[in-house]
Amino acid sequence: MSKFLVTITPPTPNGDLHLGHLAGPFLAGDVCARVLRQLGHETLLVSYSDDYQSYLLRRSRESGRWHVDIAVANSAAIQRSMRSVDIAVSNFLQAYGNPYFLEEVNRYFDMIEDRALVERRAASIPFCKDCAVFGYEGFGRARCNYCGASSDASQCEACAGAPEVARMGPMQCNLCKGTMTPVPVERLVWKLGLSFARLKKLYAAVSTRAHLSSYLERILAQDGAEWPLTRPGEPSIPLARHPDQPVHTWFAGLAGYRATVREFLAKESRLESIQDWWNPSVTIVHFLGYDCSYSHAVAYRALLDIEGAAPRLVVPVTNRFLKLDGKDFSTSRNHAIWIKDISSAYPVDAIRFYVALKAPENEVDDFNRADFARWVESSYLPRFLRDPKWAGAGLRANPPAGEALARLQGPIADWRRSAQPQSFSMAGMARALEALLVEIEHTDGGANAHLWSLYGLLGQALHPGLSSRIAAAVHGRRPEAAEWSNAVMAGEAADVHSV
Ligand SMILES: [Zn+2]
Ligand SMILES: [Zn+2]
Repeated sequence: MSKFLVTITPPTPNGDLHLGHLAGPFLAGDVCARVLRQLGHETLLVSYSDDYQSYLLRRSRESGRWHVDIAVANSAAIQRSMRSVDIAVSNFLQAYGNPYFLEEVNRYFDMIEDRALVERRAASIPFCKDCAVFGYEGFGRARCNYCGASSDASQCEACAGAPEVARMGPMQCNLCKGTMTPVPVERLVWKLGLSFARLKKLYAAVSTRAHLSSYLERILAQDGAEWPLTRPGEPSIPLARHPDQPVHTWFAGLAGYRATVREFLAKESRLESIQDWWNPSVTIVHFLGYDCSYSHAVAYRALLDIEGAAPRLVVPVTNRFLKLDGKDFSTSRNHAIWIKDISSAYPVDAIRFYVALKAPENEVDDFNRADFARWVESSYLPRFLRDPKWAGAGLRANPPAGEALARLQGPIADWRRSAQPQSFSMAGMARALEALLVEIEHTDGGANAHLWSLYGLLGQALHPGLSSRIAAAVHGRRPEAAEWSNAVMAGEAADVHSV
């Protein structure tokens, strides 16, 4: 048994969760944590509210409400939405003013400063005089100096680069739409490029999705890279050593995850210390959108390496983005399916299964509302709800043998590969379940208790509610099927241990 920390990128609490979040890191993180526990590993699933995000300050200016009030209200809504689709985080930390959070951010900052990795640099940052805001992130937009896409000056959604603000050209103020004027400031930067040779070695032993591998190859070649960490003139996370230099939220993620674990251990009165969950034998699996690659796959990996007494194996699992009816999800234009709406209109397990099948793991994908409604009506409900075998007798106990047993090996192997952190794929797990359903429907008129029992076990992480209903229906009448499927899983589980 090993220990795993599974993380979900902290959502910006300027709105509730929508289906794009679910298809990205949220459902995948939950499924991964559940499957690791099913395989016998001690696992925590953590996330927190990104209360220091620059976009919250903008929302505050637009709405006239204090940004922390906005954050607290949306953070509560986000947690309700997670529960409504059975996303079971171990702890979700409210970051604003949280003592664990502030202590950890300062600890990591001091750690790199004490190793002479931080420098003070003169910089020129666009500023809007009329609105009195700087164009660090939430308040300004210009062209990304790497790919040319419209971007803020912090993280480019198109190429996942951290643009260099001095090379981005004219910046437009998001509040008044006027052009910002560069003003001189001093910022603290992290000479992050000095870690790139080490990171190349570390990533040689980790398998990542193709888009992240090529991203890392491109980024880690720039070993002179410096990452600006502070935003003088914008309220952000306070540094005890540098009161005039608040650090931005992108630096704070690893600190945030560690703080969330510490708060969890304290809340639950656990006897373990943070060292029990933060040492080289613990594996971290980060779930993140591709646009968070620079922070998670580069900066946090470097922090853990510098820290030393920290998790040694880190697996970043990145996703591309889901579109809705052909267009980008947008909170501001209300082009979204809100989790709270879809979870009250459809079975939770149907949402989880379908979203897993459509997860944009390697390519941008599209969610079409009409297709989903048709799939629920024509596939999910008849199979799992309306079939008479779930209400009465008729399940046949007939352990698959010979050729029938051999045919199961493909889906089981696919499921097993998809369940491993280094090749994790909830879409792969969902497709393996679909392949198993084909077998089930061709055997004993779709009423083989052993096959349904196996299906329930393999589907447990993906659709926990449906799996427990299947288990109750099948094992209540055919307890021998449970023994058989557990034995099949136990045989397989031995191999899944080696991550
Ligand atoms: Zn770009
Ligand atoms: Zn302005």
